[in-house]
Amino acid sequence: VRKRRIAAAAMALTVLSVALTGCNEHKSPKGTIGITLTSKTEARWVSDGNNMVKALKAMGYDVDIQYAQYDVPVQLSQVENLVAKKVRGLIIAPIDGTTMVNALKQAHEQGIPVISYDRLIRGTPDVDYYVTFDNRQTGVLQGKDIVDKLGLKQGKGPFNLEIFSGALDDNNAHVVYAGVMSQLKPYIDSGKLVVRSHQVSLNQTATANWDGATAQARMDNLLSAFYGKDHLDAVLAMNDSIATGVVSSLKSVGYGSGGTAMPVITGQDAEVPNVKSIVRGDQTSTIFKDTRALANAAAQMMDAKLSGRPVTVNDTKSYDNGAKVLPSLLLQPQLIDKSNWREKLVTKGKFYTAQQIEK
Ligand code: BGC
Repeated sequence: VRKRRIAAAAMALTVLSVALTGCNEHKSPKGTIGITLTSKTEARWVSDGNNMVKALKAMGYDVDIQYAQYDVPVQLSQVENLVAKKVRGLIIAPIDGTTMVNALKQAHEQGIPVISYDRLIRGTPDVDYYVTFDNRQTGVLQGKDIVDKLGLKQGKGPFNLEIFSGALDDNNAHVVYAGVMSQLKPYIDSGKLVVRSHQVSLNQTATANWDGATAQARMDNLLSAFYGKDHLDAVLAMNDSIATGVVSSLKSVGYGSGGTAMPVITGQDAEVPNVKSIVRGDQTSTIFKDTRALANAAAQMMDAKLSGRPVTVNDTKSYDNGAKVLPSLLLQPQLIDKSNWREKLVTKGKFYTAQQIEK
């Protein structure tokens, strides 16, 4: 009897697993959208990915999503594989914007539309649309925050400033830099902002892969070479992982304690540890880019394109990728600091719970 019961249970399990496998293999009639994003090292990209999967599934698509962990050849082979699998559409945030020319040519030859997500795909006409935040405005908000918090418009200064930009292979770093400089350059030129390292250009201030540890090491060097006695008053950190590295470096030489004030420090992405850092008073500000909105916009763009409906864009001149000017949808970034984080991110924005930030 026992043996028979075991056999019956085993049979039931097989039936169940066949049924489940059957479910997994069920393909949506609308087909699969392939996505590849830069890396999971920054929480924002995980949120972008999860939100796109949710939105596309709700529209009836299957989704094949991959992360490339800042490995350029890996991301290229992800694109090639998705094309070989004949996905219906591709959504890509490139690590290096210039490396996908051939793979995307093949995608277009097979009629697969391509959306450039957050970061610009460059050097190829085989991209259909670009959806991103207004990157120049992100830089304007960062630069303006340094001007405001230091009181430069009220004639205060001179102050010492250092600049930490993003990755050179990411077009966003170039556009954000231009926005930053539109605010800071007049004060650098007039001597109200002094960059003691003389490292001002994008090349001199870039951070490979926007990596926090790399920024930390550079800040260590700058502090020991140029700020032995002098106080550093402001750091333009282009995103939150860079800001985290900068804060660690400053703390290790005594900033933020014993009467040595932290500099004004900017950021980007409103990552949880950085919003906490703003509440603590270490970092000064960040830029909130609502990844739910960006993900939904990308999903809608793809669905409209695949269904032959008009695709909504609001900019047709800012983003020349070297082969064509991309019809783009630009969303608006917002400055977050101690005075508004609760309203923008919690009560109105509903992006985080108060507990996530305050616990
Ligand atoms: C994104 C930023 C992000 C950075 C590093 C940029 O392209 O726009 O939001 O902080 O990449 O991942």
